[in-house]
Amino acid sequence: MAAAKYIFVTGGVTSSLGKGIISASLAKLLQARGYSVTIQKFDPYINVDPGTLNPYEHGECFVTNDGAETDLDLGHYERFLNKPTSQANNVTTGRIYQTVINKEREGAYLGKTVQVIPHITDEIKRRMLLLGESGEHEIVITEIGGTVGDIESLPYVETVRQLKWELGSAAMVIHLTLIPFLAAAGELKTKPTQHSVKSLLELGVQPDVLVCRTERSLSAELRRKVALFCNVNVNAVIESIDAESIYDVPLLMYKEQLDKVVLNKLKLPLKHEPELDQWKVFLGKLKNPVHEVRIGLVGKYVELKDAYKSIAEAFIHAGVANECRVKLEWIHSEKIDAENVAAKLSHLHGVLVAPGFGDRGIEGKISAIRYVRENNIPFLGICLGMQCAVIEFARNVIGWKDAHSTEMNPATKHPVIDFMEDQKRVTKKGGTMRLGEYACVLEKGTKAAAVYGKSRIGERHRHRYEFNNKFIHDFEKAGLMPSGKNPDSGLVEIVELKNHPWFVGVQFHPEYKSTVENPHPLFVRFIRATMERVKSAY
Ligand code: GLN
Repeated sequence: MAAAKYIFVTGGVTSSLGKGIISASLAKLLQARGYSVTIQKFDPYINVDPGTLNPYEHGECFVTNDGAETDLDLGHYERFLNKPTSQANNVTTGRIYQTVINKEREGAYLGKTVQVIPHITDEIKRRMLLLGESGEHEIVITEIGGTVGDIESLPYVETVRQLKWELGSAAMVIHLTLIPFLAAAGELKTKPTQHSVKSLLELGVQPDVLVCRTERSLSAELRRKVALFCNVNVNAVIESIDAESIYDVPLLMYKEQLDKVVLNKLKLPLKHEPELDQWKVFLGKLKNPVHEVRIGLVGKYVELKDAYKSIAEAFIHAGVANECRVKLEWIHSEKIDAENVAAKLSHLHGVLVAPGFGDRGIEGKISAIRYVRENNIPFLGICLGMQCAVIEFARNVIGWKDAHSTEMNPATKHPVIDFMEDQKRVTKKGGTMRLGEYACVLEKGTKAAAVYGKSRIGERHRHRYEFNNKFIHDFEKAGLMPSGKNPDSGLVEIVELKNHPWFVGVQFHPEYKSTVENPHPLFVRFIRATMERVKSAY
């Protein structure tokens, strides 16, 4: 394969303009034209990875097959491209510095003064080129986190400057900026974009394409003005108008010919028109649903919807697969108790109890699960949600009133969820967490086996605690069945209720694997069960 081409995506004016979605949309178009594309993200914070970040800070922590804890934008890359990412696709400043400092301690710099330029920038450069050098990708899109002008982004922009110089026409820069509409003036304003491009120029980087985020359509005259002030071709001023759904953006970018402009700039053939039939069918169904269900998402971070990004997207994919609009109701687990639970949940067609860490909101989750179990409301529990289902069953069906996870109550006599000593053996990376993809074998004749239609699956994990196999027979006897187990360790990965329309808890995170092309079967079947409940209400 010829040497890879590199597209760098920077952001200006403000954060939250949607660099991740623009990068994923461009990648989708290039992929649909027959190119092999990957996307990586460089984040300017000092944390070595986002695994230790509170979801209120940066939203969900996405997990890859190889067990990397990453930025949530990697979820978008996977959902759009239908291709797994890996540890190499997300790099932070913390990781860069850690590598350089470790090398310094080993004496690798031979007595030299270790500096931001060239040592930090060389390490950034090495990592920026890594995926391109693997020979697996023709085009590598690199999203630079943060906003141009931030102190912490400087080494990244400097590295982009050096790479643009070294790689010539094999590299280009797309700058995402904002053209605000000032209601008082009744006008779109280009000045913030001009300033943002000036900041880039001061750092020695001339953008090749400007993607302009806007609420209103850009006129030809305004495009000419931006082009003139920012030294870009007028056809490289791309409008990115607010969209109803993130899944509209690839088609909007196609209309603006972003893919053509980019391929011309990189001196690559256009090949064929993008093959987007399946994508268009998806969008058609998304916008014209036949059915509708209301699902409650019970979690403790519901004020910040980004904390459950992959779950919300998996619901969209699964809804489309069933031609059904999924109306999510975000319910704060701290606000549920035994008295108000019926008022909060009785009108719902299904309830998902979300993943999480720590004690906050745990009793609310348990109350919600008791209610859906006793009232035959379809239920999906993910990770902590599954663990809560086990605790609830132990307390209210088996009768162990003090049953708990040792994460919340280390002294309980019934540690039905516990930290498994022998799990340390199978832990891959990242301290004591069980991270990344593990195999799971499904029990014949169970709901889980019917959902997947096969006997062996692989799903991604991110947790420390496990179903405690010491109690497995008590649960089976009382009707909560372990329907999926890890073939090597025997750890229980799925539980389900025998006498309930649809009650499934999974220790792993199915939401990480749901994509537009491959909606996750657990979500698809869960939605189907909720649709049955709608029907039975008549
Ligand atoms: N806190 C639980 C554990 O560590 C569940 C984690 C999660 O929901 N991701 O096992």
